[in-house]
This record gives sequence, C-alpha cells and structure tokens, in this order.
Amino acid sequence: MALNPFENAQSQLKKAAKVVNLEDSILEKMLNPVRLHEADLEIEMDDGETKIFKAFRSQHNDSCGPTKGGIRFHPNVSVEEVKALSMWMTWKCSVVGLPLGGGKGGIICNPKEMSQRELEKLSRAYIRAFYEHLGPTKDIPAPDVYTNAQIMSWMLDEYEKLVGEKAPGMITGKPLVLGGSKARNYATAQGGVHCVQELAKKLKWKPKKITVAIQGYGNAGSFMAKILHGLDYKIIAVSDSKGGIKKMSGLDPVAVEEYKKENGSVAGFEGSEAISNEEILELTVDLLVPAALENVITAENADRIQAKAVVELANGPTIPEADEILFKNGVVVVPDILANAGGVTVSYFEQVQNAYNHYWEEEEVLQKLKKTMIPAFTAVWENKEKYQVDMRTAAYTVAVERVAEAMKWRGV
Ligand code: NAD
Repeated sequence: MALNPFENAQSQLKKAAKVVNLEDSILEKMLNPVRLHEADLEIEMDDGETKIFKAFRSQHNDSCGPTKGGIRFHPNVSVEEVKALSMWMTWKCSVVGLPLGGGKGGIICNPKEMSQRELEKLSRAYIRAFYEHLGPTKDIPAPDVYTNAQIMSWMLDEYEKLVGEKAPGMITGKPLVLGGSKARNYATAQGGVHCVQELAKKLKWKPKKITVAIQGYGNAGSFMAKILHGLDYKIIAVSDSKGGIKKMSGLDPVAVEEYKKENGSVAGFEGSEAISNEEILELTVDLLVPAALENVITAENADRIQAKAVVELANGPTIPEADEILFKNGVVVVPDILANAGGVTVSYFEQVQNAYNHYWEEEEVLQKLKKTMIPAFTAVWENKEKYQVDMRTAAYTVAVERVAEAMKWRGV
C-alpha cells in the first residue's frame, strides 16, 4: 500500500496520462518539480536555546504562470509531502483555468508548542531563506495547515523589508487591511459547496434529506459545515485532531465552533456522542467530507465507506488503491484538485486586486468564484462521462491537457 503522498500524486498523473495519450517527454517533465528548495532555519527559542527547523519550497510546474501554493507548519511535513502538494497545486490551478502553476512549502515544526514570538521568528526566517525564489511573478505562498493571516503578514513584512518595496501580491491569505480579499477566509469551503450543489443536481439530491460527516474542523471543515447547514444539509458528525462527535438529529455548526473555541476541540460537545477519526469516515451518511490531512481513505478502509459521495476538501485524503475500490463500489469522489480549488481561486483574485490596488466587494468575489467553480465542475463531469473514468482521473485529464498545451507552446 503506497502511503508516500508524492508516489500517490505520480501514480494519479500516470493514470490520467494514459487516458489522454500524453507524450512521454511531457509526462517525464510533469512527474517531478521543476525546482525544489530546502533550508535549515535556525531560531533562538524563548528559553534561549537554538533550534533548527527543516523548511522546503517546491515549485512543480510554472508553464501556465507563476507557481502558487500554501505553506504548512506541521510535525509531519516532509519533502515528499511538499512535492506532492506542489504537484496537486499545478493540477488544481489548471482545472479551474487559473494563469498559475503549482508550488507548496512547509516547515517541520509543532506550532501548537511554540509561542507567538517563536512563530514570528520562524515565519521571517522562512522568507529570508527563500525570498529570492518568491514574488508576485515568481511564486506566491498562502496559508495551509496551521498557518494563518498572522503568519502571512509577518512573511509579507519580511519580504518587503528584503526587497525594499511594497509587494502585497507576493503572498495571499492576508488580512483585509494588508490587501487581503473579502471572502478568502471561507473561499475553499464555498468552492466545495458549489461542487456539492452541482453534484446534488446530478444525483438528484434534496438537501433536507442529505446527511453529512466532516473530518477536520479547521478553516476548510468548519466553514463547509456552516455553509451546508445554512443550505439545509444535515451535519451529523464532525471531528478534529482530538476526536469527533456525532448527533443523528443534526449538529448546529456555529454552536460546535463556539464550543471548540472555548475547549480546544469539538470533542465533548454537549448532546453528542463521541466518535473516533476512523469511525467518522465509515458512518452511514450521504456525503463524507475529509477536511484534515492526507492518506485517510486507504485500501484498508475504502470498502467500509458508506457515503454515496466524498467531496475532498483536504488535499490527498484518498490513496490511489482506495480510489479503485470506491469507484468499483459506486462512491462518487469529487477530487481535492477540484473540490478545494475555491481557496486558490480567491487567492488569485486577491493577487489581481493587489495588482490593481483596487478592491472588490464580497458579492463580486463570490460571483467570480461561482463563475469559476461551476464550469470547472461541468468540464470534469463531461470528461468523466466521455472517458468513463472516476472524477479524479477526469479532473486530471482536464488539468493535464491544459498544462501540456502550455508546455508545447513554450517548446517543450
Ligand atoms: P486548519 O489548520 O484550519 O484545520 C485543520 C483541521 O484538521 C483542524 O480541525 C485539526 O484539528 C484537524 N486535524 C489535524 N490532524 C487531524 C487528524 N489526525 N485527524 C482529524 N483531524 C485532524 O487547516 P485547513 O486550512 O482547514 O486545511 C485542512 C485541509 O484542507 C488540508 O488538507 C489543506 O491542505 C486543505 N486545504 C485548505 C485550504 C484553505 O484555504 N484553508 C485550501 C485548499 C486545501
């Protein structure tokens, strides 16, 4: 069972390459990042001790434009994970037709055990290590797991000091006052909701009857719960790193969020039953939304997935062997590169607004997001029908063909 995310990403690409008869020379180039940067970041901790943190920035493919992708702070970050995430960013930007390539960064650290001062030092050190490779026309970072608007602000500030000018478009996910975009904080979830609603039309779902389980209650998962709840979907289970909760009559996502703010976890929410992070995946629900980390749906548990559809807000939650099993069992999987592309789409809008130094109202951002997500979903659904493949492979065919075309125009 392959659990190396980069091998998974490569195997997904190879599968789609076969479907579209991609030339070997192009596939060869797509299989690895064009550039990979690594650094040891030396930080003086609050207790006076010096610690070294490994940091990465992978730029997978820049044929369609500057590379773009988040920076993750997590103990499990690895070079293989960062490479995989950067490749997924290439396909994600391409599937929704953005003029961007794929990048990703990460630092091996445990932000939960670090003070704000230490996090600031680490964020600034990351920029000092990689700033020559970053910039609005080169590579544009954004938040990812355990990074946020504060971290983006420190990074922007450090970058601007180093280059000696204002450059708000060098990073996205900024607070509004530093050039952030309205709706960016819930854009990933909103994009996922557009996918759910389009899927609902295809599967002839009526929201009131649809039950939902969401693994991960951070930025992506909690907004997904709140927006779907507002559309009459019934959220019956959610979880975070400390455990999960289930309530068959339906949870109120806002109350759960408030509870999590006070108690540090959704676990223990009054009126709910405890459920583990493994059990939540196997619940009898209509819709399962993985919104935490990768490799959670595996060859081992795929046969026990009861959901009729999986909408992947997390990156890489399903390994290739599990995809085969889900497809055989008739479970529709809306893949990460489409389902969570709302985040990078509004990040791109943020950059456009930074370039114009003119900012849009929330309504305008949401309209533009909808106009991006729905045609992307339709294109993927059409290729699914045309090639008789699962939605992930179909999304890859759309994305890979666009990138291949850009590479050919450039003379690869
Ligand atoms: P976040 O840090 O805001 O939240 C992560 C959530 O996952 C938290 O609730 C955390 O408790 C939970 N979690 C961590 N480890 C877990 C475990 N082992 N089991 C269950 N839950 C666990 O991060 P986020 O921004 O919401 O990102 C979640 C996923 O969505 C990631 O895969 C990320 O790459 C993807 N994603 C996020 C965005 C975005 O804009 N935020 C965009 C695209 C993709």
